[in-house]
Amino acid sequence: MTAPDSIPAAPYDVVIGLEVHAQLATASKMFCACSARFGAPPNTHTCPTCLGLPGALPTPNAAAADLAVTVALALGCAVSPSSSFARKHYFYPDLPKGYQITQYDRPLATGGALSWRAAGRTCTVRLVRVHLEEDAGKSLHEGFADSAGSAYLDFNRSGVPLVEIVTEPDLRSAADAAEFARRLRATLVAIGASDANMEEGGLRCDANVSLRRRGEAALGARTEIKNLNSFRALQRALDFEIARQARVLDAGGRVHTDTRLWDEAGGCTIAMRTKEDSEDYRYFPEPDLPPLAIAPDRIARLRAALPELPDARHARLASTYGLGDDDAAAMARTDATAAYFEAAAQASGDAAAACLWMRGELRRRLEDAGLAIERSRVTPQALGALVRMVSSGVVSASAAKRILARMMATGEAADASAGAEGLLQESSLDAIETLVDDTLSKHPAQVAQYRAGKRAVAGFLVGQVIKASGGRANPSAVDQLVRARLDSPVA
Ligand code: ADP
Ligand code: MG
Ligand code: ZN
Repeated sequence: MTAPDSIPAAPYDVVIGLEVHAQLATASKMFCACSARFGAPPNTHTCPTCLGLPGALPTPNAAAADLAVTVALALGCAVSPSSSFARKHYFYPDLPKGYQITQYDRPLATGGALSWRAAGRTCTVRLVRVHLEEDAGKSLHEGFADSAGSAYLDFNRSGVPLVEIVTEPDLRSAADAAEFARRLRATLVAIGASDANMEEGGLRCDANVSLRRRGEAALGARTEIKNLNSFRALQRALDFEIARQARVLDAGGRVHTDTRLWDEAGGCTIAMRTKEDSEDYRYFPEPDLPPLAIAPDRIARLRAALPELPDARHARLASTYGLGDDDAAAMARTDATAAYFEAAAQASGDAAAACLWMRGELRRRLEDAGLAIERSRVTPQALGALVRMVSSGVVSASAAKRILARMMATGEAADASAGAEGLLQESSLDAIETLVDDTLSKHPAQVAQYRAGKRAVAGFLVGQVIKASGGRANPSAVDQLVRARLDSPVA
């Protein structure tokens, strides 16, 4: 990557790696039959397994594994035919078993990358791994009469399936990190693997960041910022942390390897604890679960079911329809936009014009009406027909804007709207000839000037004819006729 968007004043390079947790869109939890739905009254979706009661055994959720494999395939990872579960130990009130079931030394998938082009440069962020794990419960510290002295626990989220996606330290600015997270979210949503709703905690990001002197190869000491739950928080927390570390290094100090919390109100990160090493978690293989086997035909089936991903669609629209980068990105933005564009491009026979209308007049009208494109009363076929009417000279470009406004309001077809607005262009030669003759007889002085050699006056006369037609006369037909009359010998 080049030209990072936010760099500290001192000569440091910024190094960022993200760990993203996304809730998988399954009906039930990872290792029990409890509902995984968000928003139920506290502790109504629980059972001995997700409450960690002694003797309860986990049963893996095959749908969660399918979704995690789908994520891995969408990101170009290599899916392991056999991965395994491990116990990660730590002690916290919302973790009833005293350990989390996750994947450690044999993850579901490794490798892969997410890349994108923006402002003339390509960002490529390689992935280390994609693995499955279960979520913990939730501690509620606020909103109760006795919150000052007590915390409450909700175990509805305990055992909900998550996919964790870990990047290589390839990001070079806070803005790029936020952009990566946005694009990753769009991919997860596009493939139906996760709702990735950040407000509900369905997508959470831990950000690791360090600085190193420009040109140095070794990575510097990093801090980890936990539980960022909006793209804005991610970017602000990283910008704060980059500036903080730069100040520490500028003063000749050393960055402590801390885990830090983002304080949204204070706009700063706060040291929470010294970062754990993996030894601190005393990982060991989960004895109650067999290895997770993913057969090749299952991978093939999931790969075949993948929808077209945002980046692939962008590239395809650019090459199939000859669109520029910006136009292709705009047309690829959502499933509905891309489908509308492809239908309109076909109906109009002019993809560039269809795109221009969609980005201009149609978008403005939809925005004014507060409508998504899938609710547009103007179908892509109707827009295509309008574009054709313009290119064949049946209506002028400016008249077409008024026709579109009527189509939006009435849902009528393009030709019906044009007729109703009286905007069909007059191409019939007889009608135009009459107008030309009238106009020339009203402007004898200009006619004389033209014949005396002042050719530019023709433009004025053409304009007068079109004006007399109420804007309906076809300009090139008028132009030809006017010149023919002026050039013919005086009668
Ligand atoms: P941990 O076991 O502490 O989670 P990992 O090695 O798995 O550490 O890395 C976690 C994340 O931190 C990854 O996204 C990785 O790219 C990133 N990372 C590792 N070292 C650094 C560093 N020096 N600076 C910035 N990010 C880093
Ligand atoms: Mg980590
Ligand atoms: Zn349960």
